[in-house]
Amino acid sequence: MEHLFGKSAYEGVVIGSVYVENNTTEKDDADDIPVYDIQSEKEKLDMALESAISSLEGLKTGLTGEIEKKDLDIIDAHLLLLKDPVYIKDIEVYIEKNLKRADKAVKDVTEKYLGLFKKIDSPIYRQRELDIKDVSNRLLDILRSDEENHKILDGKILVTREIYPTELLKIYKEKIALKGIVMEYGGETSHVAILAKALKIPTLMGVDNIFAHQWNGDIILDTTEDNSCVILNPDENEIEKYTKKQEKMARRIRKINECANLPAITKDGVEINLYLNIGDSERHSDDDVDKSTVEGVGLLRTELIYMKSSEFPSEEKQLYIYREILKDFSRDQSIVIRTLDIGADKQLSYFKMHSETNPFLGLRGIRFSFENEDIFKIQLRAILRLSNEKNIKIMYPMITNLDEVDRANSILDEVKDELRRENIPFNENIEVGIMVEVPSVVLMAEEFAQKIDFFSIGSNDLTQYILAADRLSETVGDMYDSFNPAVLRGIKIIKDAADKYGKKVSVCGEMAGDPRAVVALLSIGIKDLSMVETSIPMIKALIRNINYQELVLLKNELLKCGNPVKVKNLLKEKIMYLD
Ligand code: PEP
Ligand code: MG
Repeated sequence: MEHLFGKSAYEGVVIGSVYVENNTTEKDDADDIPVYDIQSEKEKLDMALESAISSLEGLKTGLTGEIEKKDLDIIDAHLLLLKDPVYIKDIEVYIEKNLKRADKAVKDVTEKYLGLFKKIDSPIYRQRELDIKDVSNRLLDILRSDEENHKILDGKILVTREIYPTELLKIYKEKIALKGIVMEYGGETSHVAILAKALKIPTLMGVDNIFAHQWNGDIILDTTEDNSCVILNPDENEIEKYTKKQEKMARRIRKINECANLPAITKDGVEINLYLNIGDSERHSDDDVDKSTVEGVGLLRTELIYMKSSEFPSEEKQLYIYREILKDFSRDQSIVIRTLDIGADKQLSYFKMHSETNPFLGLRGIRFSFENEDIFKIQLRAILRLSNEKNIKIMYPMITNLDEVDRANSILDEVKDELRRENIPFNENIEVGIMVEVPSVVLMAEEFAQKIDFFSIGSNDLTQYILAADRLSETVGDMYDSFNPAVLRGIKIIKDAADKYGKKVSVCGEMAGDPRAVVALLSIGIKDLSMVETSIPMIKALIRNINYQELVLLKNELLKCGNPVKVKNLLKEKIMYLD
């Protein structure tokens, strides 16, 4: 039995078999696999055989009646080959003995057969040669297509160095029931972690040297807050213990879900405003929160729309997508649309960014929009047009300097003028706010407060820039901690500046969906929180179980803490959500 520790992106307890995806293999050795991949390669082969058989059977059924039966015999011959135990066994043995991927094994074993057939001078064997070529090509197509390969993940826990957000979206779209993810890559606030949470996939991140361990048989994945780890080769006792923990979790989730559509009011009657963070029009969870029970959308991450597109989306396309995403929200609900926040870990397949040594300190967010004003203007036009239909607010990402607000607003004014000239209606009083992600905004909070309508604290980036610790890092992952008192003090400075000038302030980073962090934010006086939909029931359950006045008293103690451990210990005591 071996325990490997990491950080949780989404809580859960899962017991099951793994699929190990060793995507660190160098290109030249791409056909080679480690011993622990033998089983998954064999399973891949099984899946490919099954898939080839069912597609041929489908073809046969579809053609029956249209084509004479004897002409369909060719399909039967191929089906026989796909079920031929000798051919299949040969491929399996090849995988095992030579440690090769399934597709390489199919290719090499087929070539061996073709070589043998060639030596026999008979028309029957010429036909056999063509059949086996055809069948093996069909198998290779399946094995080499990502989509089909995803099927292997059904019901499995994926063990990988890293997985990209778009791949996770694809897996979701294909309705693959991925039970969990264990990855080497760190970063609980990375975009893949945010997505895993939205898709409710228990995910453990930042596991060191992931491929140095024996991933055989069933494993236990525990991504609950008290003990985020994975257990390899668990014994019976451990399996029993975790089965009980799973049942307890399920009971707790049921209780929490009962709060999904209830108001977010503390025991002593203080109303907290909850909003959703959304990225695209896909529905990510099955027990969706009723949209009328939240205040609106606190963060629409528009970059996901750009990332899923194959070119910069036109004004009309954006308008269409925004309408689609927001169709369940009423005209009264507040909708904050963040302008394109691209760069660093968010890239576009159709646009080559400058290569930079430190992309996180480079051309990101609003900086990209200034460099690409045409693209910015198209987005502003679409957002303004939508403001005629919904209660839309505009938010600029990665603001660093005061004059950036002026510059963005003057481009916005130009776009407004254009629309006026074209007689296109929009909300003349549209509110404009900024993300607080860069420490310079904290240090100049009062000046910024006078220029904007609202602040939205992007605690994910604010943490990384205050602490100079990469939010994706495996090496300094422990330093990246939003509970660092420096981050809390930064949030307090923004809150005070906002209060002084009568401006609104919310938090839309991952802190807003984390129960302990919510206790801290409430104590600082933040009453507007925006989070992924899957966090809403839990945060509502928390809010409904606390006394606001008690938290206010906590503020001074919290802000006096010298390190994140002290902060977390203090907060833990206050978490009274359902257990
Ligand atoms: C943040 O930085 O906290 C934030 C909400 O923006 P993103 O996670 O998209 O960078
Ligand atoms: Mg950010």
